[in-house]
Amino acid sequence: MEKKERYLVALDQGTTSSRAIVFSADGKIIASHAEEFPQHYPHPGWVEHDPEDILESQIDALKKAVHLSGIDAGDIAAIGITNQRETTFLWDRQTGKCVGNAIVWQCRRTAEIVEQLIKDGHGDIIREKTGLIPDAYFSGTKLKWLLDTYDLREKAAKGDLCFGTVDSYLCWNLLTDRPHVTDATNAGRTMLFNLKTQDWDEELLALLGIPRACLPKVVDSSGLIGMLDPAILGRPIPVTGMAGDQHASLFGQACWQVGDVKNTYGTGCFMLMNTGDQLIRSENGLLTTMAWRIGGRPTYALEGSVFMGGATIQWLRDEMKMISKASESESLAESVKSTDGVYLVPAMTGLGAPWWDMYSRGTLVGMTRGTGRAHIVRAALEAIAYQSEDLMRAMIRDSGRQPARLQVDGGASANAFLMQFQADISHIPVVRPRVMETTALGAALLAGLGCGLYGGMEEIAHLWEKDLEFTPQMDEETRANSMRGWHRAVERSLNWAERG
Ligand code: ADP
Repeated sequence: MEKKERYLVALDQGTTSSRAIVFSADGKIIASHAEEFPQHYPHPGWVEHDPEDILESQIDALKKAVHLSGIDAGDIAAIGITNQRETTFLWDRQTGKCVGNAIVWQCRRTAEIVEQLIKDGHGDIIREKTGLIPDAYFSGTKLKWLLDTYDLREKAAKGDLCFGTVDSYLCWNLLTDRPHVTDATNAGRTMLFNLKTQDWDEELLALLGIPRACLPKVVDSSGLIGMLDPAILGRPIPVTGMAGDQHASLFGQACWQVGDVKNTYGTGCFMLMNTGDQLIRSENGLLTTMAWRIGGRPTYALEGSVFMGGATIQWLRDEMKMISKASESESLAESVKSTDGVYLVPAMTGLGAPWWDMYSRGTLVGMTRGTGRAHIVRAALEAIAYQSEDLMRAMIRDSGRQPARLQVDGGASANAFLMQFQADISHIPVVRPRVMETTALGAALLAGLGCGLYGGMEEIAHLWEKDLEFTPQMDEETRANSMRGWHRAVERSLNWAERG
């Protein structure tokens, strides 16, 4: 009898849409579907999601993708979950009803709580234990805010409430027997998880007044988590992979060796380097985070992000009206030989690693009478690459490792000019994979390993395929001069906004 084809499905719950992608066992996309859902901004700086919207859109996306693929649900070997990170849910263990809306990672409502923690001298201990730079971005202070605001500490201590990030919330609602779980990569973004002990940290829980009883059990990123409720696809299907989006993408980019690096060029850029079993404390403003945890063994990573990545191009299009669509930036940049010394520092919302200056602001320097639109558009694309190179240098300094190549994905990695410039300025081959949906692919591969569809890493090694490689061509002198110019421009942008 012929062996029946088996499939893997990735649920990719993102900030603006919930997606599902059906993969064949050899890592090819068979079908996909995305459902957008509304964003809520109840006050300036606040961002929320309605938990019902998250669930409904994710279930719809799953059903539609499977329908579109034409496969039988019985042929799905396993499901993997990947998700927007840090977004915080709190729900009643009996009724499943959420306390208010989910607080989204972007939400700044707990900035003052974080400032107080730092003022009280707790910054170092948070950094030491969690690998994170204390910020409102992470889940810990969001959960504290919910417990404080709704006066729920006692109820939480009795075990009547469940906290979770998106992965937890999906598992609780989509799996039979309602498991209250999170995977180690998501746990690592709460500011409550000790990277070394791989457990919730008592001292941090006490600091934020979080009762352990409301926290999920931390599970591996690959392995059986539970079964999909048969009411959804007509069959119980094992869920055997789970990881936050950037971690899944690192896995889906086949960055399995120590020193492997990927960069995702989306609205912002996210760069992660696999550091193996070594927990590296950054001295250059990077975060230490989980890569994934498999078989109880943690693999760690360094992470850095660029706030204005593809968003710089959106800004040129929507605010400056210099281009009518993002892809136009490529031909315009190529229409001039260089920026003629023009640099754009897109510090519109401050600068992250390695600068960490919230008071820097967007700066355009070096213009002459001959400067035109093409020079500025080119400078904007180059700025995305310069910022990424600053992250890469920080990673090299912290890890002492020189990566052999840079794996890329995300919307702006479609720009060949940008990718070539990245290869030139970083003096490293830049490699774009055939399957650009690396986050979903990562979740699917983690699930495939977790359900035994693949016997081990050797069996998935050939599933990652290269599409294009950009090789460095810039001479060393031009490269050094360009970077020097960029850093001079960054200096001009620093400490600009006046402190209120
Ligand atoms: P996200 O997941 O953050 O929404 P995507 O991966 O979909 O982002 O990428 C969208 C971003 O990529 C936008 O900011 C857009 O400006 C940028 N982008 C898309 N295509 C191009 C292109 N050809 N050149 C430069 N930037 C692009």
